[in-house]
Amino acid sequence: MRVTIFGTGYVGLVTGTCLADVGHDVVCVDIDAAKVDGLNNGIVPIFEPGLEPMVKSNHAAGRLRFTTDAGAAIGHGDVVFIAVGTPPDEDGSADLKYVLAVARTIGQHLKRTVVVVDKSTVPVGTADKVRATIKAELATRGESFEFHVVSNPEFLKEGDAVNDCMRPDRIVIGADDAGAVEKLKRLYAPFNRSHERIVVMDVRSAELTKYAANAMLATKISFMNEIANIAERVGADVEMVRQGIGSDPRIGWHFIYPGAGYGGSCFPKDVQALARTAQQHGYSAELLESVEAVNDRQKGHLFELMVRHYGSADALRGKTVAVWGLAFKPNTDDMREASSRTLLPQLWQAGAKVRAYDPEAHDEAQRIFGDRDDLLLCDSAYQALVDVDALVVVTEWKQFRSPDFGRVRDALRDKVVFDGRNLYHPDELEAMGLAYYGIGRGRSI
Ligand code: NAD
Repeated sequence: MRVTIFGTGYVGLVTGTCLADVGHDVVCVDIDAAKVDGLNNGIVPIFEPGLEPMVKSNHAAGRLRFTTDAGAAIGHGDVVFIAVGTPPDEDGSADLKYVLAVARTIGQHLKRTVVVVDKSTVPVGTADKVRATIKAELATRGESFEFHVVSNPEFLKEGDAVNDCMRPDRIVIGADDAGAVEKLKRLYAPFNRSHERIVVMDVRSAELTKYAANAMLATKISFMNEIANIAERVGADVEMVRQGIGSDPRIGWHFIYPGAGYGGSCFPKDVQALARTAQQHGYSAELLESVEAVNDRQKGHLFELMVRHYGSADALRGKTVAVWGLAFKPNTDDMREASSRTLLPQLWQAGAKVRAYDPEAHDEAQRIFGDRDDLLLCDSAYQALVDVDALVVVTEWKQFRSPDFGRVRDALRDKVVFDGRNLYHPDELEAMGLAYYGIGRGRSI
């Protein structure tokens, strides 16, 4: 099938590449000319395991093209995806300006019946707005032919996006037209071979499904962070508690890891946006507001532990701290809403310097923080330990899981490790002569 995708970010690029990989003829369009230029020259602007070779091979085969020419791109697709950003507005609700700008562009160029697919995460009722926007543009051109707007939210995880796209848990299609559903079923048939993964529903339920999924996952994380904070105070170890509850299949092992708070481009903004949607409909979503508040507080927790260890924030003045991990989670270079973005400014504010290492996020860190005397991005985890007082682990990259603790101890002047992801065992580090602070590990306080 011929497919057009607006937006070549994490979602648009991965979706377009996976659709091309199974044989569809895909044109991706973006307003960022530098990005499009780069992609046409084999430069993939994001780090996502497995993506780059797939982009290159499908581009070389002519099944995956990149352009800034929206008119030509709209002429190409029988299915037109909207996969642009929906950042938070000032009040936390989803800002639809990019989505509606694409809808206007579609309305300005559409010359035949297509299925327009909302893949961006958008509040309930957005499909109606997209439909009305396209219709209004058609009307100004004196056109009024049929088109359909479908909601098809994306559930991929950054860091495992290609795999999620090629082997989705489910494909949600929200539509009010049987023909549009059939078209999307044909499009997704290659991903739906082993068993039925397609769930068809009405448009509004599909729009809400995406928010419900992210809000549930964020709730599990904040819940566990709440338990961790209680564990810390009552002298219990949340890692033991986690094992004790995860073994109950009604609870399960996923997303019950305490840590330094969730980040990324989705959970923070989607929890906020869902709470605002509720508010706009006269409902106070107290659980969601708390999930957000607990997370905001948790992002400051590593610094709090450091202050506890050193006695005061002032005592951090003149210290140099090694930070392992800057991305919001492993296997991505994405630093949107990352816990590191809370911790580093807190350390700088206290007068400490940072030597940081992240396997993928240095370009992002440079873009976000710029050149500063109190930040050095190092070439390896061990280089970040040179001439420092303490180590803080912020992101659970695999390579940080089993370091040479002897080397870590010898490098650290103050012999103290703050483990924001509970990667290490307190006893092991203490036996090596290191003070250890994890999240919710009451016995170490
Ligand atoms: P992103 O910011 O990485 O990419 C958005 C892209 O859209 C950018 O390249 C931008 O230049 C482009 N763009 C903006 N306006 C445009 C226009 N008028 N025409 C063409 N291109 C335009 O965003 P993302 O992370 O891919 O997220 C996209 C949507 O998918 C959001 O709603 C997000 O919530 C949702 N989502 C994201 C993820 C994720 O893990 N990143 C997962 C599921 C859903």
